[in-house]
Amino acid sequence: MSAQIIQAIRGMNDLLPADIPAWQHLESCARELLAAYGYQEIRVPVLEHTQLFKRAIGEHTDVVGKEMYTFTDRGGDSLTLRPEATAGIVRALISNGMLRGQRHKLWCLGPMFRHEAPQAGRYRQFWQLDLEAVGCPGPDADAELIAFSARLWQRLGIAGSVKLQINSLGTADSRRAYRERLLQYLGAHHARLDADSQRRLEGNPLRVLDSKNPDMQDIIRGAPLLTEHLDVESRTHFDELCAMLRGIGVSYEVNPLLVRGLDYYNRTVFEWITSSSGAQNAVCSGGRYDGLIAQLGGEATPAVGFAMGLERAVALMLSAAGAPAVTAPDVYVVVSGAAAARQALQLTERLRGERPALRFELNLGGGNFKAQFRRADRSAARLALIVGEDELARGVVAMKPLRAEGGQSEWPIADLAAGLDAALAAAGPAAARG
Ligand code: ATP
Ligand code: MG
Repeated sequence: MSAQIIQAIRGMNDLLPADIPAWQHLESCARELLAAYGYQEIRVPVLEHTQLFKRAIGEHTDVVGKEMYTFTDRGGDSLTLRPEATAGIVRALISNGMLRGQRHKLWCLGPMFRHEAPQAGRYRQFWQLDLEAVGCPGPDADAELIAFSARLWQRLGIAGSVKLQINSLGTADSRRAYRERLLQYLGAHHARLDADSQRRLEGNPLRVLDSKNPDMQDIIRGAPLLTEHLDVESRTHFDELCAMLRGIGVSYEVNPLLVRGLDYYNRTVFEWITSSSGAQNAVCSGGRYDGLIAQLGGEATPAVGFAMGLERAVALMLSAAGAPAVTAPDVYVVVSGAAAARQALQLTERLRGERPALRFELNLGGGNFKAQFRRADRSAARLALIVGEDELARGVVAMKPLRAEGGQSEWPIADLAAGLDAALAAAGPAAARG
């Protein structure tokens, strides 16, 4: 009887070695830029008390209403796998006493979990890069955050695939007034609203504006606009943000229908979208959340942040430039004769100590000469180092360039690192594995 194969959970992906170069490229570009902008990393747990997300994100949002992975643990506590990072980061700032009028620029990278219908660009475990600028009330913080994302697109080579949409949600007060007007309008068209919108009408009517249903677009186009009902401060904040973006040459489009799916936003909201992937078109979304920290019991502190969906960013990178190549080793160590295996390991370890920047791939598990050279070739290494019984007996090791012309040479073991340098210099530049 054969053992039954256990499948992966639907919507939760393995990132295989072939996928990793693109991810690592994205992450290293991001890390470099984060350091350059003065952001510090924070790592928060994947699990939090369910109440945290309910209070932060809002009971009437899709995320809390139908997407959370919630369970009771062995101690009887209701816990939830984080569907986003902001709530956990704010919780961490409060529980570690980090507010007290201080400013923080923080980033966090990791997997998030939402029980959604899996499809291209929409998964149940997905990765986000999250940035939060805490303690800064002005539009300069919003603008710098957006500048960061624009620069990251440039570094990743996908600036041409995304465009920025911005909007202002005003303050909680001005939004309440607008909500009444919107309810009146939508109420007058109640019969024409789809089931989803009728449901949203009760909890969070602004989310009706976010509907992707084509049949709803006429009604949405006729709705009163939030931007026409902004309070004076929010209007000034928004105008200043727009001026700053123009000042640094970041193009944007004002989308008065952009409302975002989480309840905690106020004033600035923004989204980087692509035209390529339909309903999964948001690559990076964020906004200001001046009320959230107080709402979670912390000292009232303004903040602004965003989350970038890494699967969607990687997909854009792949379609813009193809997969980056896996870095090939510099040296493939061929082992000739069973007795040489111990010596080959010893020599390779010695060279790894003497030349820490080089990549060595030691042939493991034997194999005949021909098979080993086939592997060496497939590895795309520049140089083969041949550790053989005969050569060892004479106190030498042989070397052979694999990507360039040139015959086999020998070098004394005592002075191997210097010989390796010379042979690598002659063997030409590093190649990338295909
Ligand atoms: P969407 O409108 O696509 O559902 P959202 O508004 O729910 O996105 P946010 O909660 O703002 O998304 O998350 C920020 C980013 O995380 C999104 O812009 C997107 O790139 C990514 N993201 C969100 N949900 C998923 C998912 N289920 N799978 C993959 N990426 C996601
Ligand atoms: Mg969503």
